[in-house]
Amino acid sequence: MGRYTGPVCRQCRREGQKLFLKGARCYRNKCPIEQGTGIPGMHVARRARKMSEYGEQLRQKQSLRRQYGMGELQFHRFFEEALRRKGVTGELLLQLLELRLDNVVYRLGFAPSRRAARQYVLHGHVTVNGRKASVPSMVLTQGDVVAVKDKPKSKDFATKALDSAAAAQPAWLQLDRTALKGEIISVPTREQIAPIVDEQAIVELYSR
Ligand code: SF4
Repeated sequence: MGRYTGPVCRQCRREGQKLFLKGARCYRNKCPIEQGTGIPGMHVARRARKMSEYGEQLRQKQSLRRQYGMGELQFHRFFEEALRRKGVTGELLLQLLELRLDNVVYRLGFAPSRRAARQYVLHGHVTVNGRKASVPSMVLTQGDVVAVKDKPKSKDFATKALDSAAAAQPAWLQLDRTALKGEIISVPTREQIAPIVDEQAIVELYSR
């Protein structure tokens, strides 16, 4: 399945919770979830029956996948990578997602949303450890340094995003605001990631 190109807020409405896909707007009362807009579609009442276990697991997976703006195939590839590694699969999956380059750019505050961060990376506005990096799904590791390119357009965008950033940088990242760069000082823990999701349900879904 290709990348979702429909209305962004519809994804939050479908999941019945804020997925924070639109940057600053998500923190204002203009957010449809804040306004109490329900699940989209004509047959909502019929679908409102008690969900099966499979249905619950599927919703958890869709919710997490949408939070990171990923397609099915790529999300599944991340799951397989988590499965291959030693440790708790659900937690490893969350760590891999969180260490994606586009997410790190978003978490550092260089872009207002993950979606915007993805575009920003794709357009070549950042470097990793001093080298050009334009693959949003690149998984970073402890000690990697992400920097905004020394170009007016790149710096303007990041500075504006930092000025209006609604969320603080997480503790696993160290931001140098003046130099517009940030370092991954540790791999994020489950508590530091805190996504609105039951990752164990996703592991169970893929183990069926
Ligand atoms: Fe739209 Fe953001 Fe609200 Fe989601 S959280 S419904 S993306 S405004």
